[in-house]
Amino acid sequence: MHRSSIPPDIDASRIYITPEVEDEIISMTSESVYTVFRSKFNVSVTSASPYATDLIKTKTRTVGEYKLSTPDISVLALAWEISQEEETLLLSDDYGVRNIARIMGVRCRGVNKHKHIRVRNYYFICKACGAKIREAEGECDTCGSQSFLRRYS
Ligand SMILES: [Zn+2]
Repeated sequence: MHRSSIPPDIDASRIYITPEVEDEIISMTSESVYTVFRSKFNVSVTSASPYATDLIKTKTRTVGEYKLSTPDISVLALAWEISQEEETLLLSDDYGVRNIARIMGVRCRGVNKHKHIRVRNYYFICKACGAKIREAEGECDTCGSQSFLRRYS
């Protein structure tokens, strides 16, 4: 759950948010809007484990998704952790969040149905030899260079 509005066709019997997202909702709307949201839905405010948080941070670096905020990371980590145990749907209109969710195998959809969401696929090109590389960490398999350029497919 990443935004304060829930599309009506979604089963929102249980909603999880992180303390970071709670702060974000309150600062984006108001305390009273948030209170209404909490009274309408069964909202649990909880944090992911340090393990899940580190896992997401590492993955965002590996795929070169550097623009994610602390709330973004927190909600991805929590969604991933819950998805290990039960059916989970992460709601976000943020491209970066959706991209990492897809990579981590977390089901994800946008909140705003009318907004066209395109998930970005990245790959990297070795600056030295031009080889195509999947992840921007380590060395080029072909020439051992460690500097890469990001490309969108
Ligand atoms: Zn190379």
